[in-house]
Amino acid sequence: MIDTNSSRKIVVLGTGGTIAGYSALVNDNISYDAAQIDIETLARNIQGFKSHVEGFKLAFEQVAQVDSKDMDFAIWEALARRVALHIAEPDVQGIVITHGTDTIEETAYFLRSVVPSVKPVVLTCAMRPASALSPDGPQNLLDALSVVMDDKACGVVVVCAGVVHAAEHVQKIHPYRLDAFNSGEAGPLAWTEEGRVRWSVGPIALALPDRDALSLPESGSWPQVEIVLNCVGANGKVVDALVTHGIQGLVVACTGNGTVSDALMASLLRAMSQGVKVVRATRCSLGRVVSIPDALIPDSQGLSPVKARVALMLSLMP
Ligand code: ASP
Repeated sequence: MIDTNSSRKIVVLGTGGTIAGYSALVNDNISYDAAQIDIETLARNIQGFKSHVEGFKLAFEQVAQVDSKDMDFAIWEALARRVALHIAEPDVQGIVITHGTDTIEETAYFLRSVVPSVKPVVLTCAMRPASALSPDGPQNLLDALSVVMDDKACGVVVVCAGVVHAAEHVQKIHPYRLDAFNSGEAGPLAWTEEGRVRWSVGPIALALPDRDALSLPESGSWPQVEIVLNCVGANGKVVDALVTHGIQGLVVACTGNGTVSDALMASLLRAMSQGVKVVRATRCSLGRVVSIPDALIPDSQGLSPVKARVALMLSLMP
């Protein structure tokens, strides 16, 4: 915890990821262990950190310490509750969350769906571990703090490699490059430059979610929603198996404009007749399913398959 006399506070929540990763070899950017270094140590070790946040009181909290490929609903529940509690404090300016890159877009979209606050919640990450010869995490963390301190910032965003992305649009598009994220056709919300934030948009009209993290049911009872893919030879057997298993929802990562093979469609319609909610998203990385009138299966309203899964899961909760 770093204290100043300021009444404005930034809460920094750590969840792990490569940004907290460590390898004994400085030139190892792929075989390191993610989620090794605690969030306060990470931040304190950044040169210039103290002056960067001058005028703000900081509070650090380690909510989890995981490689984000292993992110789970129990951590989401804990994280969302911590965000909700902190953000409701009048002296809190906003929240920064460190997270692995692999599933940051899912966590960002989940938080955006359960935190009805205009205050900024800024997720950041790194593609290289903290032990790397030239780690990207320190700059990303400073950039995330720049965004949270900016008066125009609001809602849930992801900051990586100097680019600010909206939770709805951000997607990891590269497995290795430092600039691993993209907002597709929507484009970035802003860029961070020398501690300043240059916005690409005018005033941000934030649509707040109806749901509140504090009223979520316990994560152990969250509905099971899976993703299936339409691809050459897709025969629908996986859908039949999932229905037997008792799933409540299914997102189909469709080809093109929401198309699925006849065999997969037959399985999906069978699943729907047994009460399973089904949503179509496109597996294309840009664009969205353009709605076809009278479509038998509703589309994801522009959400990618992984985000459509979050939306469907939340819609199925009491
Ligand atoms: N597997 C790591 C994670 O998502 C990758 C990263 O953070 O870049 O935690």
